[in-house]
Amino acid sequence: MQPVLSINGVAKAYGAIKALKGVSYDVPEGSVFGILGPNGSGKTTMLSIILDILKADSGTFSWFGQPGSPETRKKIGSLLETPNFYHYLSAVDNLNITHAISGRGDAKDIDRVLEIVKLSERKKSRFSAYSLGMKQRLAIGAALLGDPDVLVFDEPTNGLDPVGIAEIRELIKELSKRGKTIIMASHLLDEVEKVCTHVAIMKKGELLTAGAVDEVLSNEDIVEVSSSDPQRLYAELKSFPGYSSIKQDGKNIQLFFPLATSQLEQVNRFCFEKGITLNLLLVKKKSLESKFFELTND
Ligand code: ATP
Repeated sequence: MQPVLSINGVAKAYGAIKALKGVSYDVPEGSVFGILGPNGSGKTTMLSIILDILKADSGTFSWFGQPGSPETRKKIGSLLETPNFYHYLSAVDNLNITHAISGRGDAKDIDRVLEIVKLSERKKSRFSAYSLGMKQRLAIGAALLGDPDVLVFDEPTNGLDPVGIAEIRELIKELSKRGKTIIMASHLLDEVEKVCTHVAIMKKGELLTAGAVDEVLSNEDIVEVSSSDPQRLYAELKSFPGYSSIKQDGKNIQLFFPLATSQLEQVNRFCFEKGITLNLLLVKKKSLESKFFELTND
């Protein structure tokens, strides 16, 4: 299937600061694609480039297999900064203004998006009377005008309380169920894990890894073993069934297993039957946090 968005070698510097250093990845259709990275890793810069707000110094990107154009742009709704809604106007009146300026959607569409973002009952209330979460939902509603196939959100839960955060995450899942492709920046591992199907992990303008969340951020058990002859142990353990990867770490051999499938006893028996006596046998848990830490720290 053709990716919705394909990014190839995109680089961008602000003077001496290299915000993006040649980043490439594809966003699959129908995915909730998280761009995950600490502050300053280049997430907003990338979103600004793919939305034609900023120009890349080098590299290219294509939407739906084509270079960006007004036509493709209509299929993309975005929320980078909270829009300047009028505080004394209602949700309906504010969306009417957004629609008039952007040319997206129509009067009927306004009721449709207010329904999706669960503001129908409060659609006549002044914007100033809204909670932060409601304001953010209205901003997402504005991005939904014209029913775009793709939605791009920069840190959509930033600054919200736990209830507001949960509501936005539910909304994103709901939009995904409706078939939208969603691209969102986040600095929260937990958020990406809960909401996203795919992830690109960024650090200081570089892409560390990208792919399906359950592959990139998979939890693993590590069985670590050692014997007086590590070379032989390594060679024999290669034929042990069920591990996902094997690594030699100094004198120790590490076998990586999908979560909760580690087989301490079986590994021990396997080695015993090969005539190898282990002088170390332990299981280490690898949490998502430690994996993320490992990826984003030097
Ligand atoms: P945050 O979550 O803090 O917004 P980010 O991952 O979105 O971080 P960017 O905002 O893209 O990262 O910033 C990447 C780097 O580029 C940072 O070092 C930042 O200070 C720098 N930068 C961003 N915008 C500008 C600008 N207009 N002028 C100069 N430097 C900038």
